[in-house]
Amino acid sequence: MVLDDQPARSLPSLCGNCLEWLPPRADAMGGKGTCDHPASGILAPEADTPGCGFFHSRR
Ligand code: SF4
Repeated sequence: MVLDDQPARSLPSLCGNCLEWLPPRADAMGGKGTCDHPASGILAPEADTPGCGFFHSRR
């Protein structure tokens, strides 16, 4: 039996899974993205950087 009415589990707390994370620009050197949260204190985290206290899962 398939249970398709279950809420989606949130993603692991990593910057790449956070709503505040913007992926690297196509012309960027290196793989760092950008954190859009004004209070995180982290400007350019990698996708696999552990999430901070402001982590907000994309789902
Ligand atoms: S530093 Fe915090 S707010 Fe910014 S992308 Fe990572 S988890 Fe999200």
